[in-house]
Amino acid sequence: MSSTCLPFLAEYAKNGRASCTACKQKIAQDLLRIAKVVQSPFHEDFITTNWFHVICFFTRVKPKSIEEIKNFDALRLDDQQKIREQIDNAGELLRDIREFDSAMSSFKIPNKEDKKTIKTKLPKDARPSPKKFKIELNTNEDDKLMKKQDKELFDLKDHLTILSKSQLISLLNANDQTVPEENSRIIENLADLMCFGVPSPCDKCNGNLKYKSGVGYKCTGDLDEWTKCENVNIDPPKKKFKVPSHMKKDNIFLTTYKPKIKKRIFKQTFSTKSLASVQKEEGDVDGPEVKETLALKGMQFVINRKSKTDRNKIMLLGGTVSSRLHKSFL
Ligand SMILES: [Zn+2]
Ligand SMILES: [Zn+2]
Repeated sequence: MSSTCLPFLAEYAKNGRASCTACKQKIAQDLLRIAKVVQSPFHEDFITTNWFHVICFFTRVKPKSIEEIKNFDALRLDDQQKIREQIDNAGELLRDIREFDSAMSSFKIPNKEDKKTIKTKLPKDARPSPKKFKIELNTNEDDKLMKKQDKELFDLKDHLTILSKSQLISLLNANDQTVPEENSRIIENLADLMCFGVPSPCDKCNGNLKYKSGVGYKCTGDLDEWTKCENVNIDPPKKKFKVPSHMKKDNIFLTTYKPKIKKRIFKQTFSTKSLASVQKEEGDVDGPEVKETLALKGMQFVINRKSKTDRNKIMLLGGTVSSRLHKSFL
């Protein structure tokens, strides 16, 4: 699933003209709004956005995960949290953990080892899932730091939106960074680099590591002509962001900006495993309806020649392509 065809879109209303699909009231400018994006069955590029107030949206629609919401990363932290809670019922989980822990502490005062033993003896569905513990690990201290971090990021974004696209691209180039396709991604990327520093290139493929919400710094490079690099680093080594001196002229923001290196604190919401499955889906060339009739489904091909056309043909027929012969075939 590419980000351009995600089923939902969240943003701060650019104007006050759109009405909410559910309650029919106007959605005020700058208010957070969510759209259900409907693609025309006849024309790929033609989409309709049905806007909702956030509250109204969740009475009608239930996205499976935040991964389905385009532009989610660019929302303010508080707003991300509100949406996350609606989707994951994170509040409910948090209460479960507290109840679970207080119930356990009434046996006796259990030490770490005791807790572990009790947990393994509990029936499977009574054990809190690893996801619950991830939420538990976020202390108040982290929350405070994240709020501060969020403010810094949004201040930077506010300043960056005033710059021209060519200025934004020059800033990325000056720091050896590739340019993301979408404008909002460019600003996200720059705000991260200016706030936390420029990550060193990927140690597997030398590509750029870019921050991805809930995941960490994910490599955007390729391992070879056909394979995307999936390297993720939570806290990669970084160097200071550079502003070319000619760009500082007549720009107070860029002149007064002080580069720094900091660790970005975030809540990890995707395990590497679930990330891999998402990526696998993204790479799927075939749609679900035609899957069963694909002639080469389940077959693997090893191509010696570097031809993208052959590769695409095989993949369209359901086969998989690799550049090396897999061990199991030897
Ligand atoms: Zn509404
Ligand atoms: Zn890489």
